[in-house]
Amino acid sequence: DYAVGGFYPVMIGDLFHERYYVLCKLGWGTFSTVWLCWDLIGKRYVALKIVKSNYIDTKSAQHEIKNLRCVGKRKKIVQLLDDFKVTGVNGTHICIVFEVLGHSILKFIRPKVGIPLPIVKTIIRQVLEGLDELHTKCGIVHTDIKPENILVCVDDLFVQKLAANAWKCHRTGMKLAGSLVSSFPQNLQSSSENTNVNQKKVEEMTHLLLSQLQHLESAVSHPSSSDSLVDSLPDSVNKVCSSDLVVKIVDLGSACCSELISNCSGTIQTRPYRCLESLICAEYGPPVDIWSTACMAFELATGDYLFFPEAGDHYSKDEDHLALITELLGEIPKDIWTSGKMTHLYFTETGGFRNIKTLEQWGLCEVLIEKYRWLPREARDFAEFLHSLLAFDPKQRATASECLLHPWLTGA
Ligand code: ADP
Ligand code: MG
Repeated sequence: DYAVGGFYPVMIGDLFHERYYVLCKLGWGTFSTVWLCWDLIGKRYVALKIVKSNYIDTKSAQHEIKNLRCVGKRKKIVQLLDDFKVTGVNGTHICIVFEVLGHSILKFIRPKVGIPLPIVKTIIRQVLEGLDELHTKCGIVHTDIKPENILVCVDDLFVQKLAANAWKCHRTGMKLAGSLVSSFPQNLQSSSENTNVNQKKVEEMTHLLLSQLQHLESAVSHPSSSDSLVDSLPDSVNKVCSSDLVVKIVDLGSACCSELISNCSGTIQTRPYRCLESLICAEYGPPVDIWSTACMAFELATGDYLFFPEAGDHYSKDEDHLALITELLGEIPKDIWTSGKMTHLYFTETGGFRNIKTLEQWGLCEVLIEKYRWLPREARDFAEFLHSLLAFDPKQRATASECLLHPWLTGA
């Protein structure tokens, strides 16, 4: 991935766009790496996403910027702060600057256990609030709702500690003897030579970081060399267990304008969260995000995927996916499966599966009781909520605002 068309090789201490000073890595995705930076001009911490330089990822990043601009400032969607391009050894990369957030909620799902139900509800409620804004106010469909794309909000102190920890690691990593101050001029030289930085600004930033570091030295006495430094701070984990948990939706790289969606414009959504209409290649719109939200809610609550299809010797992954849906939610009505362009690949004329002959019905409520040992009442309430988000007919599926009124979320 660190080749022409791939990632930009970022170094700690690099300075981008004459203002974003790289402190540590926050995370990475299929298309980008994301870095914690100090903004010399805005005098705040920011997250800098540097996208791979190939044509497709560049297009999708431009698309993401367009979507984010259209979304503007929203409570439940990550905020865009700036964007620019940078050219390096691997090509020209789009860079997107965001507010800093913490871990994705994926980090908190314990396999086979999930996370406590009140927290699942807190998260799902906020995701639906975000989707409601995206769908109704912005006319945008996210198309990639999944735990990785839901991030926890963090406060300034957390980010300061993260930055301080990063500097400690950096210093340790560089095996620099003596005081941190003496290491700085050297460290900053390369980036200032490359970009003609205003030396005064860099000094200002160094001074600020140093004072923060001194302040927090005792708070981060065990620097970690882990790839993602967020991991080294226990606060983020504690945070998710508290009821004031705030999350935001990120990654609008695959999002599309709800008006432009027509028939099957390529595969959308990550496999386990892919909805019925996308699988059969029928028309789709905002309801695709609602289906994904249901899959995610189940995963948060149980620690297992709702659907995890696999190809067999005689059937495809898609056919298995459709079979799993049928086993859990019942037979897919004819008017639904005939609405898809790809239906003939999976269904016979009479509506049976082409290659999968035996199905075992095991309804959602029973699965929760029998497999996950939920109390019947809790299982029934949750299953009822999920059923309204997993309606086969996208027109019948609950909208985000309708989901928010469901008793499972309101507690009524
Ligand atoms: P991709 O388009 O490559 O999937 P994402 O936008 O999903 O990129 O970001 C990749 C990862 O980077 C996220 O899963 C998360 O760990 C981290 N990340 C992204 N945005 C932020 C942010 N604003 N603050 C903190 N970390 C972030
Ligand atoms: Mg992503």
